[in-house]
Amino acid sequence: MPGGFGSNQDQSPCPCGGGIYGNCCGPLHRGDRRPSTAEKLMRSRYSAFVKEEVVFLMATHPEEGIPAGERRRILRIACRQVRWTGLRILATERGGLNDCEGIVQFEACHSDGNLRETSLFQRRGNHLEGDWLYIKPLILEPT
Ligand SMILES: [Zn+2]
Repeated sequence: MPGGFGSNQDQSPCPCGGGIYGNCCGPLHRGDRRPSTAEKLMRSRYSAFVKEEVVFLMATHPEEGIPAGERRRILRIACRQVRWTGLRILATERGGLNDCEGIVQFEACHSDGNLRETSLFQRRGNHLEGDWLYIKPLILEPT
């Protein structure tokens, strides 16, 4: 299929390292596909920071009590503040197709160093049909 202006087939490498963006995190950011595992959500959130996909970042991380406009502003700044250069998944615990909760340990590299985080993910409503959400960091180790 020829790509026109409406085509979202981005052939550039995905920031998360999982292949071509148009086949990897792109469809998740556009809402064409849902992240099926906690790791996939983690990867797509990392890519979203690189690509400044603020709407996706907001949709996948519930933060009640902060007005949407304020969150958007904070996330835009966060996306532009750091130049991310790579992601490594170090370990995963649960977070699969038949889990409602999972833990992902990862290392994200940026121009000034690395950030190592162990994060908690849960499905919305604690239900197998619910979308994966990023809940919070459990351990944060800036290096
Ligand atoms: Zn990706």
